[in-house]
Amino acid sequence: MSDCGLVRSLLLSWVDEKLPQDLKSEVAEHLASCGACAGLEKTYRATARLGHWPDEEIPVPDRLTGAVMEAVETAGKPEKEEDPDEEIVVPTKPV
Ligand SMILES: [Zn+2]
Repeated sequence: MSDCGLVRSLLLSWVDEKLPQDLKSEVAEHLASCGACAGLEKTYRATARLGHWPDEEIPVPDRLTGAVMEAVETAGKPEKEEDPDEEIVVPTKPV
C-alpha cells in the first residue's frame, strides 16, 4: 500500500505517533519516496507544534503546501504560546 491518498489519511495519526508499527513502516517508506507527502507531513508537524489540529483531513494543493512551508520556515517559532490553563478572573460582584 503505497498510495498517497491512504498515506495522507494516516498522516495525522503518524505525526501524533499513534500508528501501529506495521503502518508506521509503510508510511515512513512512502514519505521517503514521495516528496509531495513528505511536504505535507512537514506541514502537519508544523501545525501540531502550533497546537491547532484540523478537525478533519483537508486536501492541500501542492502550491499551497509550498507556500505554507515557506511561511513556516520564515516565521520560525510562534511568538507566544497559548496557555490553556490560564484562569479567567471574574471580579466579585459588589453586594
Ligand atoms: Zn505520496
